[in-house]
Amino acid sequence: MTEQTEYYTAEVTSDCRCEIYDEETGESKLDEYGEPARPDYCYGDCYKESLYDLYDNFLTDWREKNDIGEDDLLVVSTNGMLWNKVSGWTTVEANKLNDALTLNGDYTLRYKLSKDFTELTCVRSSHDEYGSLFTIVKMPTLPCDKCGEQINADVHKEELGMCIPCSNDYYAHA
Ligand SMILES: [Zn+2]
Ligand SMILES: [Zn+2]
Repeated sequence: MTEQTEYYTAEVTSDCRCEIYDEETGESKLDEYGEPARPDYCYGDCYKESLYDLYDNFLTDWREKNDIGEDDLLVVSTNGMLWNKVSGWTTVEANKLNDALTLNGDYTLRYKLSKDFTELTCVRSSHDEYGSLFTIVKMPTLPCDKCGEQINADVHKEELGMCIPCSNDYYAHA
């Protein structure tokens, strides 16, 4: 997690970000372009580290401030995805958010969180996308029309306004 002027950011990428420690200087080795040098073979440590930072720092702060549990459903939506700019949305548990955004192949996911912890977005860049913006929110809840229990909005819609137990009950007696 990186703190910027207006945002916190976190990045997950399919590119290797491992650094090579230079014992002589005590710093990371640089390549001929002045960028950090990468090892010939990546064991995936950099990826694991970026996921750790995403879930255990960045998203934990967001979840705590917004009262979102690890297993709570999130809605991930976009207006311009992939080369054909399709819009769409999907739901995913908070502790699997990154899985909903990864692609087969090369990609970079740049997560951005406003400093008041209200706005969470992710820009995905890949071979097929210059950059697609995803908005991430907690799945809204609505009260069940019969018993009043708060249920996820997608269940509310699917079950015609009822929670699952009320819906089952309704159809068992219909
Ligand atoms: Zn690596
Ligand atoms: Zn109900």
